[in-house]
Amino acid sequence: MTTLPDAKLFIDGKLCDASNGGTYDVIGPWTGQPVGKAADGTADDVNRAIAAARRAFDETNWGTPENRANRLELVKKLRALFEANRQKLADLSLHEAGAALGAVGRAHVAMALDGWDDYIRIFDQVTWEKDYGTREAFGGIHKRIAVYEPVGVVAAITPWNVPLYVNIGKVVAALLAGCTVILKPAPNTPGAGAIFGELAAEAGFPAGVLQVVFGEDPALAGEMLVKDPRVDNVSFTGSTAVGKRIMEQGAPTLKRIFLELGGKSAKIVLEDAPNFAMECMMTMLVFHAGQGCAVQSRLLVPKSRYEEARAIMTQAYAGLGEGWGDITNPAHIMGPVISKRQMDRVMSYIELGKQEGATLVAGGHARPDKGGGYFIEPTCFFDVNNSMRIAQEEIFGPVLVVIPFEDDDDAVRIANESSYGLSGGVSSGDFERALRLAKRIRTGSVGVNGGMCISGDIPFGGYKASGIGREWGIEGIEEFLETKMLAWPVAAG
Ligand code: NAD
Repeated sequence: MTTLPDAKLFIDGKLCDASNGGTYDVIGPWTGQPVGKAADGTADDVNRAIAAARRAFDETNWGTPENRANRLELVKKLRALFEANRQKLADLSLHEAGAALGAVGRAHVAMALDGWDDYIRIFDQVTWEKDYGTREAFGGIHKRIAVYEPVGVVAAITPWNVPLYVNIGKVVAALLAGCTVILKPAPNTPGAGAIFGELAAEAGFPAGVLQVVFGEDPALAGEMLVKDPRVDNVSFTGSTAVGKRIMEQGAPTLKRIFLELGGKSAKIVLEDAPNFAMECMMTMLVFHAGQGCAVQSRLLVPKSRYEEARAIMTQAYAGLGEGWGDITNPAHIMGPVISKRQMDRVMSYIELGKQEGATLVAGGHARPDKGGGYFIEPTCFFDVNNSMRIAQEEIFGPVLVVIPFEDDDDAVRIANESSYGLSGGVSSGDFERALRLAKRIRTGSVGVNGGMCISGDIPFGGYKASGIGREWGIEGIEEFLETKMLAWPVAAG
């Protein structure tokens, strides 16, 4: 049995156990067995974390303009310590988040740390002051400038699917902006949060600048953070239901809120796509068992080539065979789903798809023979129309739906007939045509002819129910800034 290091809380500069000494087992998705222990943070711990973050923001120079260079140096030092702990990060991704080895090297660790480097690289492009010139008012001339200041205490509430990536996206940006931070990782992946505390302690972060709290109860710490008037900003990635609750519960204290709530993104493969088969096959929803907010989980193909697509995908999934779900195989990019709860949820969607009249061309079964964990076959449905629930709801598992369209307008209509709008793709032999369609899709990012539109140096976020605000890139740092206008009278001329 694998044993990960105990996940400890980090409050006011100290690694600590829960105030009542409580712990809980972290269950490994590959085995369904405990892989480590985590502190079961209490309300008292959350209170202390908020108090420490508030004090550090209000009473130290952490967020001041004079401290910017020092902040950057500390963030770089922390980044170097994460580098030195790459293997530990990989172990956490593998055993805690259930990432297959071929996925660990990508989104889980490499892309996450690359994103951190992007933040460091673009930090000097953040605008801290803007000159608005002069204007005449009330008989005088007034000089106006804007200064951009850290928003204050940030609660970063994060999910289990790509925990290191999301934690970095929020924590590093907020620290660079000059905020103090309370990171609240998901109960399933406390280690990917705890490591921020361990290494911040080693890097010598001032007490109170960064806190990490978590516990077995999924809502306790999060709700306290959302409701507490001492917290200025909540940056959340997770489910739509919890996102809505955060907006509601944050309203009485008028929280600044960033939300990233997943998607049901469409990839449109037009009839003239030069490599039609490859374009279709690239959407096979296997990477990290489909547990990604930006995955393209609806494949849209022309009605004229729908049967051809069916043959292509049937063969491609059959060809994948048992090429997934082996924890020792570095070529595998798909392992189990995160938990029993998630497995039940995904399996219920597969049942629903059958009841709705869709045709399974691949997968559809749980695979207990792969181990004691939460294995579901790579699954693909044809004969899907866009009004079915399996086409509308985020399944967050290895389930692709394939939908036919009549023409370009119909493809855009189907892509847009979704409450979500996070990512997407368009492929065509005619670049201008693909670009035109991409611009008509109401979504936060679109890859045109396979273009990569997600990386640490560009903004990421959603339209519609996929969220509010942008993470990553300069915009990701600016999410944590407030605008203050300053004006003073000046002599005419
Ligand atoms: P969730 O939204 O319940 O949890 C996300 C984070 O919010 C966790 O840290 C959790 O502890 C915390 N949380 C839970 N209840 C809260 C509350 N009332 N107030 C404040 N914080 C709270 O997500 P989940 O249960 O881990 O997954 C459920 C579904 O969410 C998935 O099946 C999937 O569809 C979706 N999901 C989306 C993303 C994404 O990246 N958009 C990530 C994970 C899950």
